[in-house]
Amino acid sequence: MNFSTVDCMKKYALNKIDTHTHTYFSFDASENHNSPERMCEKACEKGLDAIIFTDHVEINSEVEHNFPPLDRAACRKQCEEARKLYNGRLDVYIGAEFGQITHYPEYAKEAAAEGNFDYIIGSVHNTKGEQDPYYMDFSKVTYKEILYMLDKYFDEYLQMTYAPFVDQCAHLTYPVRYIKAAGIDIDITRWDEKITEIMKSIISHGKTYELNSVYVRKKTELPEEYLLLKYRSLGGKKIRLGSDAHFTDHVASGFDRAYELINKVYKGEIK
Ligand SMILES: [Zn+2]
Ligand SMILES: [Zn+2]
Repeated sequence: MNFSTVDCMKKYALNKIDTHTHTYFSFDASENHNSPERMCEKACEKGLDAIIFTDHVEINSEVEHNFPPLDRAACRKQCEEARKLYNGRLDVYIGAEFGQITHYPEYAKEAAAEGNFDYIIGSVHNTKGEQDPYYMDFSKVTYKEILYMLDKYFDEYLQMTYAPFVDQCAHLTYPVRYIKAAGIDIDITRWDEKITEIMKSIISHGKTYELNSVYVRKKTELPEEYLLLKYRSLGGKKIRLGSDAHFTDHVASGFDRAYELINKVYKGEIK
């Protein structure tokens, strides 16, 4: 973990930094306009003070060769150029989103050390041996299989929170996004105990809880308020907003509503 970066996060108001963004260096960036420079331009337009680039480092995929790996050198070069160009207008951090750390923990540890990232966010996109719900056809999945998937998901997510190099824990509701979008109702309180354990671990390990604003953009009803209330009741204070932008237009999108939600739950305690 890069402590100096965590400290410097305190420099920015909650809604003035986007901590989760993808440039065209991410394998799943579906637009070829989202260069680091264009992303910075958009961040300035949206009135941000800082942006963190968190292109995908999908640990399992890099080992198993499922998707093209992140071109660290080319990505860093362009991000550094953008950082220079926007110096004085926008602070630019070069981070990464590490997916599936627990599948190959040694590889992940080395990738974190070698990458010299300012900030690492940890994610679980797919559990061991299972598909990423983004690609799943839920009409072919039984309810029992969904319960099994979420059991595994929260288990792996908890393990991910133990990784010392992870600064921020991303989109805890990730699979629920797709389950709900498929019109399937799921009561997340079924995993209440596990979620409590996850949040306690985030807090005790000094990590940041991410409120991912995709739910606003996609108009998906996610139990974000329930999770924030729980996080607050457990003493959680470190929260950051992440747009998960894969397009320039999505930088800081949904921040107004997500910010409102944090203010509602925290009554202005978090700036
Ligand atoms: Zn993600
Ligand atoms: Zn992402």
